[in-house]
This record gives sequence, structure tokens and C-alpha cells, in this order.
Amino acid sequence: MATHKLGTFVCALFVIGCTANRNSTTADDAWRAASASITAAEMLAHISVLASDEFEGRAPGTPGESKTVSYLTEEFRRAGLLPGNPDGTWTQRVPATGFTSTSALTIRSGNVVRELARGSEFAARSRRLQADVRVDDSEIVFAGYGIDAPQYGWNDYKHFDARGKTLLMLEGEPKASGSETPEATRFRKTKASFFGTRTLKLDTAARKGAAAVLFVHEGETSRVSFAVAAAATEREGFDIASNAADQPVAVEGWITSSVFDQLCSGACGDLASLKKKASDERLEPVPLNARASFSVRNALRSFESHNVVALLPGSDPKLRDEYVLLTAHWDHLGRNPSLAGDQIYNGAIDNAAGTAQLLEIAEALANIANRPRRSVLFLATTGEERGFLGARYYVRHPLYPLASTVAEINLDSGNVWGRTSDVNNLAYGETTLDEVFAAAARQQRRTFSEEPFAGGTYFFLSDQIEFARAGVPASFPGPGNLYVGKPTDYGDQRWGEYGAKDYHQVSDEVRADWDLSGAVEDAQWLLHAIWIVTQDERRPQWREDAEFRRR
Ligand SMILES: [Zn+2]
Repeated sequence: MATHKLGTFVCALFVIGCTANRNSTTADDAWRAASASITAAEMLAHISVLASDEFEGRAPGTPGESKTVSYLTEEFRRAGLLPGNPDGTWTQRVPATGFTSTSALTIRSGNVVRELARGSEFAARSRRLQADVRVDDSEIVFAGYGIDAPQYGWNDYKHFDARGKTLLMLEGEPKASGSETPEATRFRKTKASFFGTRTLKLDTAARKGAAAVLFVHEGETSRVSFAVAAAATEREGFDIASNAADQPVAVEGWITSSVFDQLCSGACGDLASLKKKASDERLEPVPLNARASFSVRNALRSFESHNVVALLPGSDPKLRDEYVLLTAHWDHLGRNPSLAGDQIYNGAIDNAAGTAQLLEIAEALANIANRPRRSVLFLATTGEERGFLGARYYVRHPLYPLASTVAEINLDSGNVWGRTSDVNNLAYGETTLDEVFAAAARQQRRTFSEEPFAGGTYFFLSDQIEFARAGVPASFPGPGNLYVGKPTDYGDQRWGEYGAKDYHQVSDEVRADWDLSGAVEDAQWLLHAIWIVTQDERRPQWREDAEFRRR
């Protein structure tokens, strides 16, 4: 196996280390010895501190942040790492802004002007971090799914100048035509495409100069009700400042399907018939003979937050300027003073558990007798829960060149219910890191699940996506689902229960019945995987069909 050959090779390079230390005659042994420092007791200690009430739910810009940043800095220092910021500090400042939008929308169709009801007919906000944002008399155009994906031969912007327009879009992505499975998608068949996300659609529309984007809420068939989507739009949002060149659209939001049908009548029929047409690549944007005017007031507040960053410098003169990046978000939702009783979102599983693994892996890697050939960068990010703010800020202001960042491995949530016989990459199928994860799992006699989890959608849902978008081969390793000595559906049950009752609730707390033996094995698995990536001359690659591969 690769690691064995690698071991010999590494020893050839580190003759002194290999002969002087009898306990680590091969690189493989070195990794194994260091993995003993990863223990359930230490992991629980980290989680218990981070998820304590004293840390107040670790909201960015609060005293909970200061405590968290101090704790992580101290632990990285104790582990023997170096300050990760080239300016000699352990943090990267992340200036962020909170914005709460109040909006009005009037539609003019010929001589008829109508103001839509906010919250029941439309919801909108502006990510432009300005107090007042207006869009006047903008032509409304139905733009299908709002996708421009040359690699799939798909363009909803055909023969169309989007500048200044208000685009109405469907959520999701076009369905495969004539497919036997009704849920099969046109682009990746069994996997979700990033082109189907609202994030990318909004960025595409902004790039094309559109003024506003309104997604059409499809009523019953939508995953969340219009009321929930509207409330999320009007709640405080967070962002980091954009460059002038990459300003977001002025207004983004939702309209109901019945407003859409009213706007469409005459021009395009109704939503149901248009939806069928929207899965045909020949459909061109449909002007709706109506104009939109928006006025948005933003209540803004600025705050400063921090990524915590630590470095383990590589030992190989050629490879040490390349970096393997390990991330976990330290932040959570803070506290809500309007709740009766418990007000603190402790975020024990999300993501004190992932952060604890990050710390344990850092400590173990720093302990390895022969330092890894490539450098390893540990980045505990802020603002993941606010829309990947810390990760996005890092990508825009990298401390080490992204082109030299050979892999990103992100940890978000961890297993607290005992040992599993399997492990996962929630970004399975995207990069050659899968081979590394599989090899490391085999060493533990565990299986590496070789299928995309939940249609690959989790890939888009944590910090790794920001690095993927910047071209860094990114992964999202996660715990397994097959619990040793338990019925096969035990994992689904536990995660299902967690998702329904505790996820993003004040009850995501440390429990007396936790069993971190599985989390220890997961961290050891990742330690080994990271070790392999640091030693192998070949850099991890995107797969041929990966959407984030540079073309
Ligand atoms: Zn999380």
C-alpha cells in the first residue's frame, strides 16, 4: 500500500530521524505512535469548555468569542504549534457587518401600480451594506432556473442582457428529460449541482448586472413554507464587505407562486406550465410586461471577529511551502435573551465537537517525531453559522497562497454515540482525497462509504464550499453511520433525533451518556489521512467531472 512505500521514502529523506528514534522506524509507525495522544477524555474536556454556559454560545463579536479565541490560542500554543498568521499572531481579523432589511416593492403593469404585501406576497433584503438601497422601474423578466453552466451546455441567459433587470427564478435545477427516476437531475443525475444553489444563482445574476433576483416560492412543493422563507429573509443577515467589482445584486428575495401567476398571465401562462418549459434548454428569458421598484432600508451594525490560525511548518525544503488546511468553525448561535429558561445555544455537537477534533489532531501531528513534509495549517473559523463568513474572508485574504494550499479538510459536527465501523466524506466523489480517506480507513479496518451522502448536498453547507469555489480540492469528512454492536438504523435514529430536537437549539449540549470512542477513532483516521497528504509528492486533485475543477 502507498503508505508503506511512502514510509521507506520518507525515511530515506530523514535518515537521522529514522535511525535516532527506534520507535519510529517508518513514517507509518510515527503516525501511529502520535495517534495515542488523541483521547476521549481530552476531547470531552475541550467540548465541555467550548460548549459551557460561560462561553455563551460562542457568538462572533461577543465576550463568548474572546473566551473561545483565548482558549483555542492557548491550546494550539500548548500543542507546540506556531502562530499561523505571518504577522506573528494567532488570529486573523474578520471585519463583519450585520444587516436587517425592511423593504417595499411596487409593481407597475401599464397604468396599474400595485404595492405588494411584505411578508405575505414578497420578502426581500439587500446585501449591499448601505442604509438605503433603491431599484427604480426595473423590467421584470422570468429567467428560468437562472443558471449559466457552460460545462453542461445550459444557459438561462441566452440572447439576453440582464443589466438593470429584476429576474424571477425557479429554485433548484432542471430535471433530466425522459429519465426513469423522477428526481434525477439533468446535470449530475444522482448528485446535486452547485449551479442549483441560490448562492451561485445570485452571484451569477450580479455578475451579469441584474438589479434584483426574486425566487418563486412554489407553495406546497417547497421544502420550507413561504412564511419561514420570508422570516429568514427579514432576520438579521451577516456579510463581509465585497470588492466594488463583486457587489451583490441590489435586492434579493422571494415572491409567492400566486403573485408569479398574476405577473405571468398573458405573457407565460402559469407556474406549472412554465416549470415544464424551464427544463428545456431552448427556453429563453420571458419579459413579463411589468416593472418593479424596490426600496430597502438596512439597519447596519459592524463588529469585528477572528479566525484562529496555527501552523505546523513542514520539514521538506521543497514541499514545506505547500499547505494542507484543516478547518473547523468555532462559532455558534450565541444566546437569545427572549427565551424563557435556557437561553444559550451551547453548540456542543455543532461545532465544539469538530473543534475538539481539530485540537486533538493538531496536538498529535505536532508530536510526530518526523515532522510532516508539507506544512499543515489549522484554521478555526468564525461566522460559519452566519454564512461561512470567516472562511470566505480567508479565501479573499489568504494568509498563504491558495494556489499552494493543496487540500482543505473541514470538520463540522462529530460523533458522540460510540464506535462506528464506517466513515464518510460528505463531499464524496469530488476529489482524489477519497482515496486517501479510504486508505486511512482500511488501516483501522473500517469501511469508507463510497457513495455521495444525501445527494452530495452537504458539500455546499459548511466552510469547505468557500475553499472549493476558490479551486482548493476540498473535503468534508464525517462520522460513519454503522454503530458497532447496534442495529443498522441506530445511526439514522441518533442523527435524526439530533436534527429534529437539538440542531441549532439550546439543547445542543454535552450529555452524560456520550461515548466519544468513535470520535477518537475518527480523529485518528483523519490524522493518518492528513499525514498521507503531507507526505505524498502528488497533490490531491479534483475529479474529472468535479464542478470546481479549473477548466
Ligand atoms: Zn456547524
